Amino acid sequence: MRDIVHHPGEMREFTIDAPAPEKWGEGLVSVAAGRDVRVEVRLESVHEGILASGSLETEYDGVCGRCLIDIAAPVEVEFQELFAYPGEEASDFEVQDDHVDLETLVRDAAVLSLPFQPVCQPDCPGLDPVTGERLAGSTGTEQGDPRDIRWAALEQFTPDHDDEEPRA
Ligand SMILES: [Zn+2]
Repeated sequence: MRDIVHHPGEMREFTIDAPAPEKWGEGLVSVAAGRDVRVEVRLESVHEGILASGSLETEYDGVCGRCLIDIAAPVEVEFQELFAYPGEEASDFEVQDDHVDLETLVRDAAVLSLPFQPVCQPDCPGLDPVTGERLAGSTGTEQGDPRDIRWAALEQFTPDHDDEEPRA
């Protein structure tokens, strides 16, 4: 990158194929350490620093937030960030000597793209509140009103946000 630093107008494009160096994400789903990550990135030298833009592809796995079955899905996310030269305008990212911290940028983009409430399928009915068994795939014709069961399961797995709500 040395050849484009402080050379506005210069540009480099490259592809990185590397395993995730650590687990990305702390929620129900995450990108496991060692998972293949492909990053296509373009570094553009601008007056303020280095503009990094590109996309990453990998895969997350974890559990469905409703029925707890194992799930996995592709992650595809685009990113763009200005790495500013030190001492110029405030930025979360800075050019360090002659390099930029792409790993942190890519990790943040991947983590932010992970679903907060992952589901195995959009209408996953969750678990039977009585038996604890997974309801998805069952016909459910003898279980009365399925909507009631769905809501019961949803309530069971809704994260506790009471702290953020005003008290009555
Ligand atoms: Zn599910």
